[in-house]
Amino acid sequence: MRNPVCIKQLRNSPYDPMCARGLQVPAGRPAKNSVQQVRAQPNWALRTLWRKVPNPFTRHIVSRPMRLILLGPPGAGKGTQAVKLAEKLNVPHISTGDLLRRNVVKKTKLGQQAQRHMVAGTLVPDDLVIEMTAKRLKEKDARKGFILDGFPRTLAQAKALDDLSDIDEVVNLFLDPEDLVKRSTGRAVCPNCEAVYHVLTNPPKRKGVCDKCGSALIQREDDKEEVVRIRIKTYEERTEPLRMYYKERGLLRDVYASGHIEEIYQRILEALRH
Ligand code: AMP
Repeated sequence: MRNPVCIKQLRNSPYDPMCARGLQVPAGRPAKNSVQQVRAQPNWALRTLWRKVPNPFTRHIVSRPMRLILLGPPGAGKGTQAVKLAEKLNVPHISTGDLLRRNVVKKTKLGQQAQRHMVAGTLVPDDLVIEMTAKRLKEKDARKGFILDGFPRTLAQAKALDDLSDIDEVVNLFLDPEDLVKRSTGRAVCPNCEAVYHVLTNPPKRKGVCDKCGSALIQREDDKEEVVRIRIKTYEERTEPLRMYYKERGLLRDVYASGHIEEIYQRILEALRH
């Protein structure tokens, strides 16, 4: 006897080969046909993913698990690139800045402890961030890989991460400090869906309104110029040493982060190919 639960779950699901071809399985159709077809094509899900990746170079990247760190100062475009990479590689984008901001909005204990550091442009204490990130990395979706954006930011965090997971690649986005200030101060974010825009390089279709969910865009408190300068200095002192940490392990890929979003994205893919 076939397991009826499995059959029911497969039918009209993304794993049903009939649906994948745009065909609905008729309601009265014997469900075992779907199962038989899947069994006849054991690599069906893999091949579907493969076909979705048009570029032969990125196929190579998608075909292996990817536990990737995006390093770079505030304003280098880590968040924007992380979203694109996460979509391409089908792994979660884990931004410690976003996780902390959600805690601030929800007024959790962690949010209350983190808020004053975030507003001042300094780092939230290691133990708090490490605990939060460890919890997130244990979630099911992170088993297939992840893109870490904004973590680690200190040597202590990098060492803690070594105990939590293997890392496959570290992409370091670098840019001239004055460009960083321009980038950060022109940034607008959606407080609802966390989409990120920029007045010059990536403006929303309607000024001040999120393309994705229609909410009013805001400037983050820590994107004000004086705070941005403190954040860049904090980065240079606390996070920059991580470049050498990962370089010594042969994991580092430096990518110049000036130019259009798509241009930088292609540079990252190119760096990951080697
Ligand atoms: P981000 O959105 O990554 O620029 O992070 C915003 C703010 O959250 C930072 O300026 C820090 O105050 C805090 N933060 C985010 N990630 C970390 C981290 N890994 N360690 C310490 N503080 C962090």
